[in-house]
Amino acid sequence: MAEANPASSLPTTSEITTARPAYDVAFLDDLLTEDESGKVIAGKTGTAATIDSQALDAVVSEMCEFPEKKYAYLTNPPVAKRGPISSFCNFVGGRFNREPEHMVDTRTGLVTLSPTAQRIIRTCFTDISPEEIVDYHTHIIGHGEDTSGSTGCYLHPAMKSWKHPTQHLKGLVFLSACQVADKHLGDLQFISRLLRLNTNFVPSALLPVPSPYTFRHGHNCILAFDKLYTLAGEEDLAHTSLYVPNNYVLELAKDSPGSFYPVGSVHPYRADAIAELERCSSQGISIIKWLPNSQGIDPSSELCDPFYNKMVQLNLTLLIHTGYEHAVNFAYLNNAYGNPLLLRRPLNMGVRVIAAHVATEGSSEDTESVPPKNVPCFDLLLRLMREEQYKQTLFADISAITGFKRIPYLHRLLAATDIHSNLVYGSDYPIPAINIVVSVSKIVNAGLLTYQDGVCLKEIYNYNPLLFDFILKRRLTGENSQRFPVSVFKKHSKIPPFRPF
Ligand SMILES: [Zn+2]
Repeated sequence: MAEANPASSLPTTSEITTARPAYDVAFLDDLLTEDESGKVIAGKTGTAATIDSQALDAVVSEMCEFPEKKYAYLTNPPVAKRGPISSFCNFVGGRFNREPEHMVDTRTGLVTLSPTAQRIIRTCFTDISPEEIVDYHTHIIGHGEDTSGSTGCYLHPAMKSWKHPTQHLKGLVFLSACQVADKHLGDLQFISRLLRLNTNFVPSALLPVPSPYTFRHGHNCILAFDKLYTLAGEEDLAHTSLYVPNNYVLELAKDSPGSFYPVGSVHPYRADAIAELERCSSQGISIIKWLPNSQGIDPSSELCDPFYNKMVQLNLTLLIHTGYEHAVNFAYLNNAYGNPLLLRRPLNMGVRVIAAHVATEGSSEDTESVPPKNVPCFDLLLRLMREEQYKQTLFADISAITGFKRIPYLHRLLAATDIHSNLVYGSDYPIPAINIVVSVSKIVNAGLLTYQDGVCLKEIYNYNPLLFDFILKRRLTGENSQRFPVSVFKKHSKIPPFRPF
């Protein structure tokens, strides 16, 4: 960190307020940038001030004025302040002061949630047992440098250095959301937190048939994440933001068979792509994840054809990001690869596809209109999902759809009941754990939740962001009272089952 500037040059209240209207992740990008010498400065607000502890405190106190404060009385005492940066990251990242186990008082056995929150949770489990829930989209993150032993994971150095303040701050916000407190044990802490959220999902007292135990969530499909490869098939670590090996998710699934299913990731340009795909399949993996925007994959390229043929032969499903990406962008980003129309190639070759996030962010070129024009990615995906030829092979997951940038599409998605039978559930964890990304007050203001639901959801978030995400998506209500059917939250009958681990 650079030396502190005099207080007079810190951004003023009005300057911060001007930078704040969207109050989102972009806000961080707007507020923090670096000057030519690599100093962290406040940018785009008129006054370039070195961000020091006072400035961060000013940012945090400004954020307290945000309308979401109406729920603040439920968030209990402020998060322990271990320093201005930590407190800032905890504020926008993981604003938790309860553990998932605390939903039940161990001495009395009573549920500690408010009676209204208990009632709302009960209504969400009348037609599904927690163990039936399948989350098709749960991320694993790691840096591979744990003192507890290497996991083989990799994070781009930009996330770990103040030389890239915005990215580094984003990284710290993610760590906070995942409740990773010690970076030397970060990989281990990430997994232990996720497992605790899964296994302490909901108190049995809130289920139709209570028992003395806390009930676990069904399976979280945990995603591997391949490196970026060049068109020539060479590994390109400089442009790789994130790497999670297939072997790591396989090991985790074997260690926790009741909680995790492994989802592999194989870059189609890899020289050994087919062999790796066969190896994944032989190990029991049945879904392959791509994030083309960040991994540099053009799904419509003929380079992918041998890969698609092999996927069909092995009966594998492609879980693929659609729409814009803004989380995994440290080293490379090309949002043109999020165009849903690029999926015609794998679909026409017979590949079964799950389009992540129902393409609820960004716009792409509609190359099928004359002349081509830019339209929301969501509309392009809806077009494909409504075509008879893809009804048996094209699915979409509802992960991350409650992020503030995606709210404008939620009414239309809830109203599109004709495609609901091809939707599956996904949380995109740790996204729902990032307080600033999923703003309950914005969802309430958009008319998708009642105020009371909103208050209760903030309470539930504080204990368990996975339960929060599930209840939130079950309670979302469209203009004509439409909700997602319960089938969305269970294993989909047309997506081949996972081999037991
Ligand atoms: Zn994701």
